[in-house]
Amino acid sequence: MEKLIQQIKQGKVWPFAGGIHPPGQKSLSNANPITRLPLPDKLVVPLKQHIGANGQLIVEKGQTVLKGQALTKPVANWSVPVHAPTSGIITDICQMPSAHPSALPELSIIITPDGKDCWCELIPHVSFADLSHDELINIIHNSGISGMGGAGFPTYIKADSRKPIEFLIVNAVECEPYITADDVLMREHAAQIVSGIKIMQQLLCPTLTIIGIEDNKPEAIEAMKLAAKDDESIVVQTVPTVYPSGGERQLIQLLTDKEVPSGGIPADIGVLVHNVGTLYAIEQAVIEGKPLIERVVTVTGNTIHNAGNVWALLGSEIKHLLDCQGFSPVPQQRVVMGGPMMGFTLPTVRIGVIKTTNCILAPDHNELAEPGPEQACIRCSACADACPASLLPQQLQWFAKSKEYDKLKEYNLFDCIECGACAYVCPSEIPLVQYYRVAKVEIKEQQAEKVKAERAKERFELRKERLEREQEARQNRHKRKPAITKSADEKQKVADALARVKSSDEKSDNKSAVAAAIARAKAKKNSGELEPDNSEVAKERAARKEQARAYKAQKEAGSSTDETTEDKKSAVAAAIARAKAKKAAKADEATPSEKSPVDDKKAAVAAAIARAKAKKAAKVEEASATEQPPADDKKAAVAAAIARAKAKKAAKADEAKASLEVIAAAEPEQIQDSAPLSAEDKKKAAVAAAIVRAKAKKAAKADEAKASLEVTAAGEPEQIQDSAPLSAEDKKKAAVAAVAAAIARAKAKKAAKADEAKASLEVTAAGEPEQIQDSAPLSAEDKKKAAVAAAIARAKAKKAAKADEAKASLEVTAVGEPEQIQDSAPLSAEDKKKAAVAKAIARAKAKKTQQEGSDKS
Ligand code: SF4
Ligand code: SF4
Repeated sequence: MEKLIQQIKQGKVWPFAGGIHPPGQKSLSNANPITRLPLPDKLVVPLKQHIGANGQLIVEKGQTVLKGQALTKPVANWSVPVHAPTSGIITDICQMPSAHPSALPELSIIITPDGKDCWCELIPHVSFADLSHDELINIIHNSGISGMGGAGFPTYIKADSRKPIEFLIVNAVECEPYITADDVLMREHAAQIVSGIKIMQQLLCPTLTIIGIEDNKPEAIEAMKLAAKDDESIVVQTVPTVYPSGGERQLIQLLTDKEVPSGGIPADIGVLVHNVGTLYAIEQAVIEGKPLIERVVTVTGNTIHNAGNVWALLGSEIKHLLDCQGFSPVPQQRVVMGGPMMGFTLPTVRIGVIKTTNCILAPDHNELAEPGPEQACIRCSACADACPASLLPQQLQWFAKSKEYDKLKEYNLFDCIECGACAYVCPSEIPLVQYYRVAKVEIKEQQAEKVKAERAKERFELRKERLEREQEARQNRHKRKPAITKSADEKQKVADALARVKSSDEKSDNKSAVAAAIARAKAKKNSGELEPDNSEVAKERAARKEQARAYKAQKEAGSSTDETTEDKKSAVAAAIARAKAKKAAKADEATPSEKSPVDDKKAAVAAAIARAKAKKAAKVEEASATEQPPADDKKAAVAAAIARAKAKKAAKADEAKASLEVIAAAEPEQIQDSAPLSAEDKKKAAVAAAIVRAKAKKAAKADEAKASLEVTAAGEPEQIQDSAPLSAEDKKKAAVAAVAAAIARAKAKKAAKADEAKASLEVTAAGEPEQIQDSAPLSAEDKKKAAVAAAIARAKAKKAAKADEAKASLEVTAVGEPEQIQDSAPLSAEDKKKAAVAKAIARAKAKKTQQEGSDKS
């Protein structure tokens, strides 16, 4: 190391491979000092002027800003802010063409200067030695300083290197033709550059600082040596003029004989390289407190009248620089940003100066001829000989054309510094550097996509693992105890469990239960352990049985309660039915015409029963009457009438009772609920009622006929005595009997009419109980039917009444003149029999009367 340092201090340099010697053309612009341009009409400040992310915008359109005021703030890695180059108003924030060969739009801040060029508050640190490492780094960072040699790498990253630095190299070579910005800067501001070197020495603590300057810049060499004469740690080293000696890797090899490994960085070998313009900016930021808002730009070329170096505000349009320096464009004028070797032709001169803009070249056609058409590679190897990175440019070109990116990486494409030496020497006019640039961009995009896909895959794998863990955890939560290797005892337990299951399935099989119990006992005895796992199952089964028994008991209790309740309900319903029947009977007696159809039905049934009883009683009485001796006919007739009256009364009482009983026993639901019957039940009930009524009517007619015969036999002796002379008393009695018979017929007629009315109501109730029950308005059809039924009932009643009258007339006639009756109409056998009996009675009475008269006489 000491030897190396000694060699360096002795001025030894080490050559690098390749390199070319193009015409310098530096005298066009380095003869005059740096000039300061007037304020432009507008400034276009791109947010991105370096390698890395954009800063966050902290101003807005219309806002007034001061010179040096921050427009963005750093937020992400490798992002550095930008500042207002002068005071003015932000007129727009929009996309503008970028200072790039593609001129892709970049978000830019448009500032209209107010002409005052008023600085914001500055915080200078004259004694920077008192500042800490971080304070210095923050100042450098917030000042927006990035590499001004052309790469644009954020300076605070390089200044904050964690790797030990042996050599701090100041790149003042400026090997590219036409460019003299660093040369004149060193001439005029060597002291400030040395101050910047000292700030970096404070941060990096290098063993040696080497200032590399090409030997074609004698004034700059002298100025730098003068400025650094008091610092032995700083060595000003003169290097030969070979292009591209200003390349970072090439300069390191020139000054230290160290070679940066492929894919590595200078810090890996303990070397750090800074451009002189960057060091000047560091000095301005730390000591003066000024952020990076301007830089020295060489404006040169044969079309520039006042070629030279100018202090150009960042954001100043190229057109402004050209105009200020006397630009006389030629036809098909090209304006190149950078040098003729590494620069690129601008698509427009409305692009603003950025931090890496070191030169604006406006050559005429003699200076920089238009490249001719591309021709096929002749494999001359001139490109390989000129390549300072020891690459194979022709191979890289082929792989780039065929997009064989793996091959490009294999052939170290990224070691190419894009110096253009290969293209400069190529006789086939092949734009080799353009192919490399495009290939690098495509490979970087491919790598970015690959990284993105790998991150997505990594996230997917992590998510998949997480889901599997969660699923496994859920399964473990619900899983039973893990199965254990079956031993002899466990096999016995399994057999025991199977036996219990079998016994449970065949409960009636006591033998299985006993066998299971024996098996359990054996298992318990053999194992001496607890019951197998199915004991819990047995417990659960017992619990279910107990639950079933409880449920059954509860259900039985509930059913008994229901039965009791039903009994109570039935009793109450029966009582209500009886009460209703009683009330209906009373109402029927009081207002028979207002009876409801149901009451009429009940009454009809009761009346039928009563009539049957009355008929039976009448028959019994009739039999007894016929058995009585005809000695005292008058008394017997009176007694018979009294007996019939009693029987009739008893029959009515029985009828009422029977009605209640029938209603309560036979149709409790109808009476209780007065619920509407089904159509079938109603029809049946109507038929039954009609049959009962018919029977009752027949029986009543028979009773009336009998009564008429009896009354006639007992109460009308005068008519019976027509064949024989009657006494005055007998005639009187006969008259009374005739009157009684007439009254009986009238009652029978009235009863028949009442029955007909009831029958009509019953028929209507049986057919349409709801209408009658609810007194709902009947439809026209129903009314018509009801009217027809009522008419039929009235006709029947009228016919029955007429038949009764005819019978009564016949009976009276038969009593008085049986022969005439027999002639006028043929009598039935029974009527004839009755007539014969009546005639015999009449004759017996007449005979008796005659005997009594003869006895008296
Ligand atoms: S541009 Fe690349 S390949 Fe061509 S000479 Fe320069 S370093 Fe080599
Ligand atoms: S210099 Fe041009 S022609 Fe010669 S080998 Fe290289 S690419 Fe081919």
